[in-house]
Amino acid sequence: MTATVIDGKAFAEKVRAQVAQHVTALKEKHGITPGLAVVLVGEDPASQVYVRSKGKMTVEVGMNSYEHKLEADTSEADLLAVVDKLNRDPEVHGILVQLPLPKHLDSDLVINSIDPAKDVDGFHISNVGLLGTGQKSMVPCTPLGSLMMLRGHHGSLSGMNAVVLGRSNIVGKPMAQLLLNDSCTVTIAHSRTKDLPDVVRRADIVVAAVGRAQMVPGDWIKPGATVIDVGINRIDAPEKGTNEDGSVKTRLVGDVDYESCAQVAGAITPVPGGVGPMTIACLLANTVTACCRAKGLPEPEGLTA
Ligand code: NDP
Repeated sequence: MTATVIDGKAFAEKVRAQVAQHVTALKEKHGITPGLAVVLVGEDPASQVYVRSKGKMTVEVGMNSYEHKLEADTSEADLLAVVDKLNRDPEVHGILVQLPLPKHLDSDLVINSIDPAKDVDGFHISNVGLLGTGQKSMVPCTPLGSLMMLRGHHGSLSGMNAVVLGRSNIVGKPMAQLLLNDSCTVTIAHSRTKDLPDVVRRADIVVAAVGRAQMVPGDWIKPGATVIDVGINRIDAPEKGTNEDGSVKTRLVGDVDYESCAQVAGAITPVPGGVGPMTIACLLANTVTACCRAKGLPEPEGLTA
């Protein structure tokens, strides 16, 4: 069997087109332009790349993008003051503080200082609680994107056995909660799970979010299962040759071994081109949703959980 490839890039394009359409309608009918503010503290190169592409895509769908770049040694009080100003700014409907923050800053404190209604990352404890109790919330972007692809592929997920590999607050736990809310029977596996291959073999849906390159081999996958690979790992790729400085070229891989899993699975997301593009698309979707809720207007359909 060769798995159907779930094309995250194409999916993300559709989501962005839907967001853009809604933004146009908000402007034309109500004179409102949704705005997303991204706060970056320090100069972590990966974070700078993420923030740049978030800003670019925000503008591409017709929304306003506000970037706040703060020095790496910014004090907690100064960062909290920036968040407070954004909380009170009526032009700003979504706020994202790029993680990880420098070590001297308390991420939990900062995230929980964001107005939950503007918390487009969905990490505020109020949103975690709302999601956990099945109430309307802002949903973390990576799990939301994964859920959209699963729903798009299967329609209903009701009654399916789902195994989520990883229990982080940003991916594993909210993913498990979303699958539970969609009536899956959910197992959360982690580094202390016993007989992990057998646990994974029972799954109709496997979501891998462990941060370990190609950890899940094909013989852990039940024939026909759907595999969502959240992992983004960079490994050496000597087959691509060397860089100008003599170092070995690299490539991105997921948390599952794509080649062997694709032989057994019914459907699989590739890396790159799977969950990654959906994450930013869902950030834009969350911003439009937050804007509509703030204004008491109908939310776009199909863009949230
Ligand atoms: P974390 O490091 O926070 O969590 C990893 C989880 O995997 C932990 O719960 C850990 O268990 C578990 N784990 C680690 N090793 C094993 C193992 N050998 N067997 C079973 N479980 C294990 O990672 P994140 O959740 O932040 O990210 C996971 C992956 O997703 C990373 O590759 C990251 O780059 C990627 N990612 C991708 C995004 C995207 O847009 N596509 C967005 C966010 C993340 P324990 O709790 O016991 O330590």
